[in-house]
Amino acid sequence: VVYLDYNATAPMRPEAVATVIDVMRSVGNASSPHAPGRDAARRVDVARRQLAELLNCSPGEIIFTAGATEANNLALRAAHTIGHRLVTSRVEHPAVLETARDLTKDLPASLVLLAVDRDGLVDPAELEHVLGDGSVGLVSLMAANNETGVLTDLDPVVKAAHAAGALVHTDATQMIGRLPLDLAEVDVDLLSLSAHKFGGPQGVGALFVRRGAMLPFRPLLTGGGQERGWRAGTLNVAGIAGAGAAAAAAHRSFAEEARRIGRLRDLLEESLTAQVSACWINGGRSPRLPGVSSVTFDGTPADAVIAAMPGVAVSDGSACASGAPTPSHVLLAMGLTREQADSTVRFSLGYATTEAEVIDAADAVARAVRHVRTTMTSAHV
Ligand code: PLP
Repeated sequence: VVYLDYNATAPMRPEAVATVIDVMRSVGNASSPHAPGRDAARRVDVARRQLAELLNCSPGEIIFTAGATEANNLALRAAHTIGHRLVTSRVEHPAVLETARDLTKDLPASLVLLAVDRDGLVDPAELEHVLGDGSVGLVSLMAANNETGVLTDLDPVVKAAHAAGALVHTDATQMIGRLPLDLAEVDVDLLSLSAHKFGGPQGVGALFVRRGAMLPFRPLLTGGGQERGWRAGTLNVAGIAGAGAAAAAAHRSFAEEARRIGRLRDLLEESLTAQVSACWINGGRSPRLPGVSSVTFDGTPADAVIAAMPGVAVSDGSACASGAPTPSHVLLAMGLTREQADSTVRFSLGYATTEAEVIDAADAVARAVRHVRTTMTSAHV
């Protein structure tokens, strides 16, 4: 199978697999004072440093969680205060959107969902306008969209929000480990990430909380006081160590990887648009992650296309919410019709994708689209 679904989850990097296995062969609770416990705590310290190096922040600003869903929940539930408005966008991941809706369910008017244009971009003027009256407490905008790869220019968002006295959170789950994000330059207060998107294990993530951010102390899980009281529970030492190893490997190679993956993504898009009529790239004119391509094959249901090419693993809409038969809220927000959204396939490439795989996959997709279109035409006759 050609695996082009890195935005759902990336294959684990060999360095991460080796580290997880190594830690699993040992024993030790990172909170225990004896030697095995101290060894476990050291593994966590190393991982915290590796992640901090990737983000260019201080290790003490990282809270380990069980993934980005938890990190997003922790960020929003800690930073939102009743009476203040919470601003996010229509194209966020459900882990942000549903949390924001839950937090404002008693006061729905305090939730502001910014629109995006056809290119998937928020209008900075609309954000400025919303921030205008000083009632916004938190702005949460994703760094990179999971369905289209479209990037948010975070700098102006941070400047405008801080000038209005609001905190800024970014769900950077799809960005971290794929493109550089330097927390010394991008002054967000809170940032979420997930290890399995950059070659670490599933079920491990982190929330960055900037030192000095004016954040009420509101943990989701209370108990033994781990992670400075922010996240109680015995630490997942093997998973955290694996996340650190993946972060270090991504950090070593991602500048070069991003260039190579970007070229492969361009090759995929050129091949598809040359072979298939009536298709387009969503967000194709915007700054995007190098490895993501959201392609609408007009009038051709994506589930039928995917079923017709079992040798290629891709996603229709967002696999993060798969199982739900609703059309992609991201594509609808970008102005696609429901039928067009349902005719969209997401390709996501990553560090282990090869040129031969991309060429094979493009040919298989083109054949599958033609096959589905022919079948549909004959069914109408
Ligand atoms: N945020 C974004 C943008 C994502 O793409 C995902 C993907 O699953 C998540 C959050 C949730 O991450 P996790 O499954 O690690 O909780």
